[in-house]
Amino acid sequence: MKGYADAHCDTAVKLFEKGGALRKNGLQLDLERMAAFPGSLQVFALWLDPKYYPIALRQTMKYLAFYKKELERNRDLIRPVFTYEDILENQKEGRLSALLSLEGGEALEGETAVLEVFYELGVRMMTLTWNYRNQIADGVLDGETGGGLTPFGKSVIRKMEELGMAVDVSHLSDAGFYDVAKCTEGPFLASHSNARALCAHPRNLSDDQLRILRERDGFVGLNFYPAFVAEKNEVTQEGLFRQLYHLVEKAGEDHVGLGSDFDGIDRTPADLRQVEEMASFLERMEKEFGRETAAKLRQENLLAVLGRILK
Ligand SMILES: [Zn+2]
Repeated sequence: MKGYADAHCDTAVKLFEKGGALRKNGLQLDLERMAAFPGSLQVFALWLDPKYYPIALRQTMKYLAFYKKELERNRDLIRPVFTYEDILENQKEGRLSALLSLEGGEALEGETAVLEVFYELGVRMMTLTWNYRNQIADGVLDGETGGGLTPFGKSVIRKMEELGMAVDVSHLSDAGFYDVAKCTEGPFLASHSNARALCAHPRNLSDDQLRILRERDGFVGLNFYPAFVAEKNEVTQEGLFRQLYHLVEKAGEDHVGLGSDFDGIDRTPADLRQVEEMASFLERMEKEFGRETAAKLRQENLLAVLGRILK
């Protein structure tokens, strides 16, 4: 099976909290099962439960240490990537690639200097907020106050662009999204969000936001969570393809890919419950979109946008 690229999973934190190993586990994703798709790229997000916000930096460091140890143990299967060239090198060797992301800027604890240290530690993407307001901006569930980026948030984004870190607007309030569009010069992305036109959840993006991602040469990754696919608890791949067609129509076939949210979601499509079932999904993608477009959606678009952002 060919490789793919997935802009978001929560497997690392889930493993830390529940116990278990990245190589082989009973979660939605592990390396042995992912190795059936050689050359794949997985973005691993470090998500913080709000109960940890008072110790955000310390808790994130614990997750980061765990993530690094797990990758070190599995160098035969996967290597961390810091540049676009690192990804290509792993692809050539048939290995998996791991890109590290922070889900929510709470761990910065209000200091851009901390962001610089995270960059040194290998972080190459950051979702600015989770669902709530933080020092950077308002999250989607606080969106009703109309708050966007704070002055600190703007300085964080400037620093991210300077360093070559991907600015991720998934979970961000609408006002925050438009502030990011205004304050950035280069592309930005929504790692795991769907189209609001088909599923009116605030976590999803409006057609206007999808248009902006297209104009800005950015990226949106399809989220598998049923409530974001079709406002239902039960969906199948059918619903995912409905979302994909809409995303492609609005954001363009060069700006759409995958953002599974594996191990961050307690419900999945009935026929895409875990990583091995990606095989049938990717096969169908080729039938639906044709070989060339499917290759873009499966892998090339995410790699390309990282190529435009990473330094
Ligand atoms: Zn998320």
